[in-house]
Amino acid sequence: MKKRRKGWIIAMDGPAGVGKSTVGNLVAKRLGYHFINTGEMYRALTWKGLEVGVDLNDQGKVLSLAQKIKWQFKPNEEGTTLKTWVDGEPVTTQIRDERVSRNSSVVAANPGVRKFMCRLQRRLGNGGGIVMEGRDITTHVFPDADFKIYLDASIDERADRRYRQLKAQGHDADRAKIKEAILTRDLNDLKRKINPLSQAVDAIVIDSTHLSMKQVAQKILRLIKRGHG
Ligand code: C5P
Repeated sequence: MKKRRKGWIIAMDGPAGVGKSTVGNLVAKRLGYHFINTGEMYRALTWKGLEVGVDLNDQGKVLSLAQKIKWQFKPNEEGTTLKTWVDGEPVTTQIRDERVSRNSSVVAANPGVRKFMCRLQRRLGNGGGIVMEGRDITTHVFPDADFKIYLDASIDERADRRYRQLKAQGHDADRAKIKEAILTRDLNDLKRKINPLSQAVDAIVIDSTHLSMKQVAQKILRLIKRGHG
């Protein structure tokens, strides 16, 4: 395997709430790479659409909104994660809103939008030295990535993790509702016609149901050290 200019391309996919961001960030930090969560891009467009009152089912209008936005990806304070900025402002907090989560699958099923996002993502990752996670990174955005990982965990474990996270942040949380919301998002991502969530045949599958995020990151770092592409 030949390293690209800035290092390897490490692509990671998996269902909602599986810990891709935590793990991706840990791996990128250890390697001195940049980490990109591509879900942020779909969320940011969904948030902007809701803000300006665009009908999210109108595919042409949503695509033209995406084309009008000034997209920027700037390192966070720590310098590892590239955060999404929309028209000159960081959108980290707003895009985590429940309304955005619920509506992002509609935007993510828009073929023009997916093409647009894929171009942005390739531009960001082409030079290497990147850990990128999403739903179609191993299968579509970087099918020739140097390392392809599919991260999985049982639905109950994913719902539990989200529940504990919300509780720790002092939020009211309903475990059954969390589980249902995760299942709905998974289903939308799996049944989508264009670039649905699927395991690349040559991806390394890691089941994190009984592992901590740190253990998963260590597993991936060992794989990279051994040069398993
Ligand atoms: O990763 P996260 O759950 O924040 O992503 C938000 C939504 O964006 C997902 O539910 C999915 O529909 C969509 N998405 C996608 N392709 C990606 C990343 C995210 O369709 N590569």
